[in-house]
Amino acid sequence: MTQLNEKPATKPDQFDAIIVGAGFAGLYALYRLRGMGLRVRVLEAGQGIGGTWFWNRYPGARCDVESLEYSYSFSDELQQDWDWPERFSPQADILAYINHVADRFDLRRDIQLESRVVSATFDDAAQRWTVATAAGGEFIAPICVMASGNLSLPRVPSFPGLERFEGRWFHTALWPDQAVDFGGRRVGVIGTGSSGIQLIPEIAGQAGHLDVFQRTANFSLPAHNRPLTREAADSHKRRYTEWREEARRTPFGIAGHPPPQKYAFDDPPEERARVYTSKWGTGGNISFLYAYKDLLVDPEANETASEYVRQRIRSIVRDPATAELLSPRDHPIGTKRLCLDSGYYEVFNRDNVRLVDVRSDPIAEITPEGIRTERTLYPLDDIVFATGFDAMTGALLDIDVRGAGGLSLRDKWAEGPNTYLGLMTAGFPNMFIITGLGSPSVKANMVSAIEQHVDWIADCLGFMARNGLATIAADRDTERNWGRHVNEVAEATLYPLANSWYVGANIPGKPRVFMPYVAGLDKYRAICDQVAADDYPGFTFERHN
Ligand code: NAP
Repeated sequence: MTQLNEKPATKPDQFDAIIVGAGFAGLYALYRLRGMGLRVRVLEAGQGIGGTWFWNRYPGARCDVESLEYSYSFSDELQQDWDWPERFSPQADILAYINHVADRFDLRRDIQLESRVVSATFDDAAQRWTVATAAGGEFIAPICVMASGNLSLPRVPSFPGLERFEGRWFHTALWPDQAVDFGGRRVGVIGTGSSGIQLIPEIAGQAGHLDVFQRTANFSLPAHNRPLTREAADSHKRRYTEWREEARRTPFGIAGHPPPQKYAFDDPPEERARVYTSKWGTGGNISFLYAYKDLLVDPEANETASEYVRQRIRSIVRDPATAELLSPRDHPIGTKRLCLDSGYYEVFNRDNVRLVDVRSDPIAEITPEGIRTERTLYPLDDIVFATGFDAMTGALLDIDVRGAGGLSLRDKWAEGPNTYLGLMTAGFPNMFIITGLGSPSVKANMVSAIEQHVDWIADCLGFMARNGLATIAADRDTERNWGRHVNEVAEATLYPLANSWYVGANIPGKPRVFMPYVAGLDKYRAICDQVAADDYPGFTFERHN
């Protein structure tokens, strides 16, 4: 299989569709659009395919959706043939799977690696996009599909002095492809989100000393990861079609979790504790949040689950002051991504690990020797930033996107981003966004959400071809109404109570808008299907100029 590397283009290359990004979304979009007979080019910034799973190769990186669910459903042969070694896959296994998919469906010949897209410009007269890469390549196509990911623009906070640090520093999402040896070193990890919580036990086992710089405590549950036995895999595969059907009817796009029937206060305290203990022992965040139907809407119900986890933390962590610092008090459980870990809280019983509270004593600067908070200097050999991403809008706004009439996406979204159905944003004809903000995206199994979006886009392009239509664009009024609806749905839950990346709270100055659509992938799918069945109300089509 050849992988096309960037070549200086003498004249723009012409295609039917350009896809930005070669992760799960870009690969499936390529598969579907090529299957419709379109000439497609995928532009990928990385040296390899895989998107998130190419970049996030930090020690301990692992998916928090079970392997048999976090995989493509579009080919039964693929899902029957592929064997997942573990219940929750480590990064390397998912990357191997993605590469297998690319080979199996002969996708690589249309993928151009090391091609970071820097601009995308719509030409109104010609009704086509020109997509430019950092190396100077230009690609022209009527259709532009942004498969650039929701968590793909890593963020290093702007602490003064990083350039003077004399040790090594890393970001979890820009991890080197060679193993990093922390043996005997003094390491500082900043950040205790999903990435930090997975990474910290791995580093603790190697480092001479580990300082964990925590600003906000996060809830985490034990993953109870284990090898996937042949028997369990075979039994799942025998019913794979039914499992996938069931998943499509669920809010998260994940089968095997019957919706809860009871409210938290339907049960007396001792029965609730028994339910939570059983969920804690099962592993998996959906299972836990599905203990009762009101955990994400009723603060008091939620508090029963939150307090259960705090009590588990107290039972694991021997030092009471450390246990209290690790106990989240500022947000209801589940309103930030509920982490899954393998031995996270236990790490704080180790002699070589110290928890540093940078809420009460914030990081002031990086010095040549280490991290200096307002009160203390922490000497370090290595700093690891597990500080997250400019989520959902970051990767799109990193590209200079210009739509109809030269409208800049950065200008349009300056006061807050908006889309219709998370699929398109008004003023940007023929630019589709896969799992964009305003769709369930990060609040569902991403692979299910991706397949649903790509299938919708492929159907829409088929509709346009059959009807001789050149462009499609979201209507502004419909987009405004959709944004209002997304917000209302979120407001009826506890999600807005958290300062999460769902609302952009982790990026100073980012407009605060609740970005994922939390009504559920099942309901959302029905809305999208209805829009398609009704010939796309809320979108305007134009014929060829
Ligand atoms: P994150 O959830 O945004 O966590 C970033 C961490 O860095 C937070 O603890 C944050 O503290 C801290 N931080 C940021 N700026 C800081 C500063 N200036 N000073 C001190 N601390 C600072 O990022 P992430 O852990 O990379 O995870 C992002 C998302 O990726 C997850 O929510 C999940 O959806 C996905 N993910 C999934 C998996 C998985 O499948 N298991 C693994 C990794 C990531 P504050 O909370 O105070 O801002």
